[in-house]
Amino acid sequence: PPLYKQRYQFIKDLVGKYKPKKVADLGCADCTLLWMLKFCSCIEVLAGLDICASVMKEKMHRLSPLPGDYLQPAERSLTVTLHHGSVAHKDPCMLGFDLVTCIELIEHLEQSELRKFPEVVFGFMAPSIVVISTPNYEFNPLLPGVTLFRHPDHKFEWNRAQFQSWALETARRYDYSVEFTGVGHPPTGMENVGFCTQIGVFVRKYPQTGESAQSEKPTEAVYKTVFKAVY
Ligand code: SAM
Repeated sequence: PPLYKQRYQFIKDLVGKYKPKKVADLGCADCTLLWMLKFCSCIEVLAGLDICASVMKEKMHRLSPLPGDYLQPAERSLTVTLHHGSVAHKDPCMLGFDLVTCIELIEHLEQSELRKFPEVVFGFMAPSIVVISTPNYEFNPLLPGVTLFRHPDHKFEWNRAQFQSWALETARRYDYSVEFTGVGHPPTGMENVGFCTQIGVFVRKYPQTGESAQSEKPTEAVYKTVFKAVY
């Protein structure tokens, strides 16, 4: 399967393993991952965030309930919300999530945004699990036609040592553990370059008390809600 599907499948497998009730996808683009996750029966709240409102709106109708969703007696409630905003800014609507995914997001962040990102995601949102994926620069020579970066909008692409040192430092600072994996196996004989997409799975070390999770974080709302569906 194509690489983006392998990344989404990785998240679906993780959802199957940890059974999070509330999942937020940061940099959700056209909401394909959210659309896939709406079929996971453990999930009760799904939220998407992107800095580009138009890309979010392209296919967001897919997140609306179908007539059949109302005819069948609901075994669970599901709320899907899309927000327009930046991962460099805190908004209280992002509190209380169990799993936060950032698939191919960080390499699109300007330096100033990347500097704020750990405090927003790990410090403020502080979910039990954070998944971050990003291109592995070491794989690029195996990709036809790639001269420097894989996409002109990438602000950087990290090799494994760069990503892992950033991730380990972030995990240390915010009391998370992190494990590294990836998707997109290198061809036989080239195993030393690592996965095409590198992935860090961060797990919070200590449970958050209800208070520190919500009420001690008074923050003004800055995101704009562009879509909401209740099943
Ligand atoms: N996660 C999706 C996927 O894996 O298919 C889309 C990845 S796309 C390469 C990166 C997305 O991040 C774009 O939709 C872009 O608009 C969004 N993005 C870039 N900077 C952002 C920011 N500061 N805050 C939120 N989203 C941002």
